[in-house]
Amino acid sequence: MISVDEHRAQVTELLGRRPAVSRPVAECAGLVLAEDVTAAVSLPPFDNSAMDGYAVRSADVAGASEHAPVELSVGADIPAGRVDVPALPPGTAHRIMTGAPMPEGADAVVMVERTDGGTTRVRIHAESAPGTHVRRTGEDVTSGTVALEAGTECGPAQLGLASAVGRDTLAVYVPPRVLVVSTGTELVLPPEPLVHGQIYESNSVMLGAALRALGCEVTTVRSVADDVDSFRAAIEPRLADIDLVVTSGGVSAGAYEVVKDTLTGAGVTFTKVAMQPGGPQGCGTWDGVPVVTLPGNPVSVLVSFEAFLRPAILSSLGHADPDRTHVRARLLETLTSPQGKRQFRRGFYSHPEGAVTGVVGPRGGPASHLLAALSQANCLIVLDEDTTEAAADSEVEVLLL
Ligand code: AMP
Ligand code: MG
Repeated sequence: MISVDEHRAQVTELLGRRPAVSRPVAECAGLVLAEDVTAAVSLPPFDNSAMDGYAVRSADVAGASEHAPVELSVGADIPAGRVDVPALPPGTAHRIMTGAPMPEGADAVVMVERTDGGTTRVRIHAESAPGTHVRRTGEDVTSGTVALEAGTECGPAQLGLASAVGRDTLAVYVPPRVLVVSTGTELVLPPEPLVHGQIYESNSVMLGAALRALGCEVTTVRSVADDVDSFRAAIEPRLADIDLVVTSGGVSAGAYEVVKDTLTGAGVTFTKVAMQPGGPQGCGTWDGVPVVTLPGNPVSVLVSFEAFLRPAILSSLGHADPDRTHVRARLLETLTSPQGKRQFRRGFYSHPEGAVTGVVGPRGGPASHLLAALSQANCLIVLDEDTTEAAADSEVEVLLL
């Protein structure tokens, strides 16, 4: 038996680091930068007005007030986007809009609300110190400096900045194309009616959603019968276009374990991991393509995804911290756990207003087929290998899903 941490390290090593590819900036949301983004321009790229108003020489409006306005002739209009801005002669003003370039000679802007709004002559009711309402070249970003470092996760603000400094594409780690395979002769796809002894297939839908949430491109083979020839025939032709295969079922200790029977000695190592649920696990390669084999029970599938696949995929995509948020929470009920195994119980976490710590209660028992309880959970309660009982009111570790 190997530990959860050992298996996680093996799956992480198997997936390695994804290649960096160039993508349009607008398609990089949620991805991690594989390059430093150096600013091709300063931000702002030129001195410009922060207000709609009048560009002036501050000396020309010195002493202006409500009672003693200064009157200047208006020389030009400067809307945003004007590229042939005339200089400002002494004793005059240019009407200027937000984002328009400051004319040479002007050192301040008077907002339109402090004027009579005139278009040929303007009465100005307030002084304006040098620099007032002027946005300076480079006060946000200096041309030639690194605006975004490699390893940065691209959210809306980062993508906005990349565009503002002139980028149309970015080098990012591209999520894998994943083939999700559900094995089991008992599996039927809705809305096909069930015959006694059959069940509806659910693992591929669950895994597909979890993988897509990480940006993966997912294709599924939803029900492969438990015989080696069918399994091979369903998967082998697809391996050329796939970066990762994730299977469910067919890896435990019984007979008819199709995944184990096909891939043992063919590049995949099957092990028992000291955890509950999700003990039987495997990983390796199939014709050079990474394969992670999960057990079949639905709860085991999602717990295995959280314990192994999610962190390994996020690491492969360049995320420095691939872990879920951990918190300590007060347990509402006593729970027991097998000695020597890390137990992941499904729980519901909440943080009552004013309380120092949150509280957590289990949803369903430890059994790995209780899908409805899983659907009511918003966290996993983690009881470590040495814990055999966690008493009500004690603090436990919780992974927020
Ligand atoms: P196995 O690991 O193949 O022995 O499967 C363990 C349990 O999970 C059995 O009760 C299976 O019927 C069930 N199971 C396996 N695969 C799926 C699936 N894709 N959807 C729903 N249940 C499944
Ligand atoms: Mg099976």
